[in-house]
Amino acid sequence: MPASVPELSSNDDILYTLRHFHLGDPATVEKTESIGDEYVPALLHAYRDTSKVRYDYPLFLSPAENTEAEVEELVKPISQVLRESVESFAVGPDAARILKDNLPRIEMDLRQKLKETEGPVSARPLLSEAGQKLQNELGLDEENSARLQTDFDKLLELIPTETQLLGYGHYAALHLLKHAIRCRLIPRRRRFHEKIEQCIYGLKTILDIDWHKSDESIEPRMARNSVGTAGTRFEPIALSDMMDHSQGAVAMSSERRERILNALQVLEEYLQEDAPILIRLVHTDGLSGTWLKKSPAFEAISDPDPCAKATKFFDQQSAKLAKVFGAARIAQLEMDDIYDPAIHDPWFTNFTWEAFSKEEILLLPAVIVRETADKIASTGMGSLSRLLSSGRPIHILIRVLAHSNPYAQADEDPFLNYRLELGAFGISHRQAVVSQSSAARHGHLLTQFLSALDTTRTSLHIINTGVQHSAKGINAWLLAGAALESRTHPFFQINPEKGDSSADRMEFTGNPQAELDWSRHSFQYQNEKGENISTELAFTFADYALLVPRIRHHFHLVPAGFESENLIPVDEYLSSNHQENIKRIPFIWVVNDKAELHKVVVSRALIFACHDRLNYWHTLQELAGINNKYVEMGVQEAREEIQAKEGAERDRLQAEHTTAIETVRNETAGEVMGRLTDILLGMDLTTASPTNTRTAAPPPAPQADTEVAEVSETVVEKEEEEEVVFDDPWIDTVLCTTCNDCLNINTMMFVYNENKQAILGDLNSGTFAQMVEAAEICPARCIYPGKPQNPNEPGLDELIKRAEPFNKV
Ligand code: SF4
Repeated sequence: MPASVPELSSNDDILYTLRHFHLGDPATVEKTESIGDEYVPALLHAYRDTSKVRYDYPLFLSPAENTEAEVEELVKPISQVLRESVESFAVGPDAARILKDNLPRIEMDLRQKLKETEGPVSARPLLSEAGQKLQNELGLDEENSARLQTDFDKLLELIPTETQLLGYGHYAALHLLKHAIRCRLIPRRRRFHEKIEQCIYGLKTILDIDWHKSDESIEPRMARNSVGTAGTRFEPIALSDMMDHSQGAVAMSSERRERILNALQVLEEYLQEDAPILIRLVHTDGLSGTWLKKSPAFEAISDPDPCAKATKFFDQQSAKLAKVFGAARIAQLEMDDIYDPAIHDPWFTNFTWEAFSKEEILLLPAVIVRETADKIASTGMGSLSRLLSSGRPIHILIRVLAHSNPYAQADEDPFLNYRLELGAFGISHRQAVVSQSSAARHGHLLTQFLSALDTTRTSLHIINTGVQHSAKGINAWLLAGAALESRTHPFFQINPEKGDSSADRMEFTGNPQAELDWSRHSFQYQNEKGENISTELAFTFADYALLVPRIRHHFHLVPAGFESENLIPVDEYLSSNHQENIKRIPFIWVVNDKAELHKVVVSRALIFACHDRLNYWHTLQELAGINNKYVEMGVQEAREEIQAKEGAERDRLQAEHTTAIETVRNETAGEVMGRLTDILLGMDLTTASPTNTRTAAPPPAPQADTEVAEVSETVVEKEEEEEVVFDDPWIDTVLCTTCNDCLNINTMMFVYNENKQAILGDLNSGTFAQMVEAAEICPARCIYPGKPQNPNEPGLDELIKRAEPFNKV
């Protein structure tokens, strides 16, 4: 026990104190040892030195020309890019050995360099610096230094000049969204420009053709041509003025001409626009950094109501582009010569963003709202709801603190109330794309962004990036990963474009062990006797909460060496009922920075919060079809139906079998009686029965009446002793003593009837060997194995021999 904690006299006192702490008795606080940032959940101990943990950041951001580009084409982890690049020119383990061995150092150096840099930076200069630093640190001899430099230069050449590096920072998710937007929008815009150029050419051609039909074009030319070679001596226009113009080609109407000229003007002006803004970001002044001003084709606007402001921006932008899209459509209709003023004039007069095609919507500059969850919850819910319901394709990025309740005040305990789930709030708007992800899993995050960008809907992205200052040695990336593992911030996406049912809309990948309440991992430690112990631990919300400094007062150390059956792990406590838990105190395993394993008791308030997390997790599981009550009921029904069908089939087979056996018995008995009659009547007994191949006994010589009676007795006796041999297996069920021995061999092949006596079930479910074995052990000797069903079963000769004595009646 530490000196700061008053010594407790007995185990009962310790248990009393821990229980009172768990229940929230403030008087116990000074009697128990509080937790410092040197403690981490046991499962995270192995990762606490993040300077040695390799993770995906910095990321290489590559510009894509393909509008369908997948995540892999847009973003790659640095380790992958370095490894693949070097492998491309240095095949085999010995090629570029020094460089290959030092790639992790380069990676670490780049990560360190980008630690304080917000936003993407050009990759090549940074990589070049890292190469120089490596040379200096290694201090190689001249030959090896030259070799390393040559290899490093080759590596550098493979990095395209326009690629960027992005470190794991505060706004990593926002930068990835910007990157995804640019990669989608720039090639789309380029294609649209080409289309506009074609429209301009087409409209000019129409005007040109019309001009060539006009008086100004045709008449002077005709006048000159009509006078042959002497035409050069005349002034054609003066001559044309003197001619009759009432006959000739029909010129375009003035309305059409005006329409074409207007469209032409709009399209030409659009093409001349200088570097248009592609992304507008609206936020509430919480952002900082040079990237805000330096990003190309990007504009950041601060506004106290970002959702409302973004709506205005979107309407302005789309109204401006409505003219361009309208002009492009008019151009196409004119080029196809199908413009009908009666139909098309009113259409283009009321042409707003709601009438845009998907292709046009996807060409609009992106509008992003970036806001924190607490600000949205305190003042922005109304605006957020209006925007989510509007259908405007605006991207809303909300940053959440995974442990916190957005509704809680800054000085309030986050576990005071049930947590507001912004994801569930978004889902309630039904037509918006809603996703929950984390910058710590860039692949998942980018996939969510790309699928939202390919729709024409409002999208809400709830993002957790972790906090910078957590427990000792735990960085923001690891903390965000822990939020995912502990169900604190589960991943999902609802995309209404995929269909109307939850099964179609819900995407639930990325959650570890999604079918369980909590993810579970193996854990090894040494006990006080020095023995290596291997166990499995659940990673719960309580484990995650330990990493957040402001809620560490919900934990208290259990004195070292103290044991009690009333202390139980949090996951077990959560899965038990209230009655079972009355005496129990929940704890989690933790490890301090001296690698010592301890238990810490968890407060009741935190247990309530764990229940709340679990409840939301179960809701998401059900939406994803995992542990869904309706699905389980359906499966049960189907199972019962199959079992009923199988039972009916079994009964039918049994009935058939019984009938067959009866037939054999009757025939055998009939034959015996027939022979007896033959004997009595002095007939020839050597005649074989057509249905029985047994050889009959030789006929006795005719005798007196008394002799006949004797003979008849002998024959009957002989007939009774004669064996009936069976080819088909059967059970003489009435003899069964229900000992269960045959069912122990195969419960499908041997089943009980309604009297709990054995009958044959599915013969195909077992082997002849099992049938023989059952016959051998059956105490009632009522199992007749018959002949093998499967001629290919191994060891049949031996089995048939063993079966023989049991096939005789
Ligand atoms: S082993 Fe024989 S007696 Fe026992 S349950 Fe099976 S058939 Fe009946």
